[in-house]
Amino acid sequence: MILQSILDGTTRLSKFQFVIALRLLHNVPMGSSKLSELLILGQGSDPKSERGVSCAGELPAASDPDLIARAIAAKAALGSRAMILGHHYQRDEVIQFADITGDSFKLAQAAADNTSAEFIFFCGVHFMAESADILTSSSQKVILPDLAAGCSMADMATAKQVNDCWGSLEKLGVAAKTIPITYMNSSAAIKSFTGKNGGAVCTSSNAARAMTWAFDKGEKILFLPDQHLGRNTAVLSLGLTLEDCVIWNPWKLNGGLSELEIHKAKVILWRGHCSVHGRFSVENVESMRAKLPGVKILVHPECPHEVVELADVVGSTEMIIKTIANSPIGSKWAIGTELNLVQRLAQDYPDREIHFLDKTVCYCSTMNRIDLPHLVWAMESLVAGHLVNQISVDAEVAKYAKVALERMLALP
Ligand code: SF4
Repeated sequence: MILQSILDGTTRLSKFQFVIALRLLHNVPMGSSKLSELLILGQGSDPKSERGVSCAGELPAASDPDLIARAIAAKAALGSRAMILGHHYQRDEVIQFADITGDSFKLAQAAADNTSAEFIFFCGVHFMAESADILTSSSQKVILPDLAAGCSMADMATAKQVNDCWGSLEKLGVAAKTIPITYMNSSAAIKSFTGKNGGAVCTSSNAARAMTWAFDKGEKILFLPDQHLGRNTAVLSLGLTLEDCVIWNPWKLNGGLSELEIHKAKVILWRGHCSVHGRFSVENVESMRAKLPGVKILVHPECPHEVVELADVVGSTEMIIKTIANSPIGSKWAIGTELNLVQRLAQDYPDREIHFLDKTVCYCSTMNRIDLPHLVWAMESLVAGHLVNQISVDAEVAKYAKVALERMLALP
């Protein structure tokens, strides 16, 4: 009863009483040191605590003044045995050590083209490291410095959900004329499903080519997992209408669609989105235009359709970079993509006026998990002879995922 009143917030406790209560709540014996790891919010700190998932050995402190020197030394010690790939959304502290920077398409190509590096440090998120593992030889090892660097969009389509969806389309007699296209931002299992069922992977740079290729082979597309990229490409690049696209909700029977809707649809969009790009709104665009007359709005196609429709320029991460590089000096831009990249563009092009489209700061929290301490830890571990955080895709899954990835790399 007392514990209940504490939980309800009706009883106030001293710090000592609070710790005793926690012990009672968690059945921890009074002499045990187990609770010493628990810190009261805002009180004290634990230098040994880990900010991602557990790391074997010591993770360097972010405040270590020698961190950059340690990264330089570890990279030099590994030499040509290792290659570091860095996605454009990575932190500056990490990107400065990348041998190749790029969007997911460019980095997939870089991984596929490299046959000499024994180890590939992938500074990006989990699905990208999986693709690198699939595209490299079995003797090459891919390392993700923090295993907690996932992607909320990729998690919105599980293999079971997608197989259930396909089963429903088969029952309705629709699957045979449907080509799955999956965005690079998906798990290896979804890419494997796609390869097995005649489809291809795409990225934001080549989504229009992938969808055109799919319509040459079939009558419908099942587009996974980003509804916005699928819809924006179908409507703005392929000239389809919004009515040609329906949304498959994996939490509802038959995706929440009627048989007629499924039969009529040209594009079945999976109900997934990017938690970063999905935040940009019409209100952001309108208030930026009101505040900065003459500003051009430049957004990524993962943004909602109504935002993309209002934008001056829409393009993949690589295209966003090229657009700014080729823009006139003095031009004003508000960019709707991940904040690390927008800040880097603002630093690299101080003679253009570059703004983040949203009012509130929003990094991709999972991309940001890869920080310099984790990169240093992963490299130093390897120098010491310990391979850590290897990303290794199951051979059967990899076989068909590779088919889907190679179809993308071969797109006309
Ligand atoms: S920016 Fe969006 S799509 Fe990219 S990793 Fe982050 S959550 Fe995933």
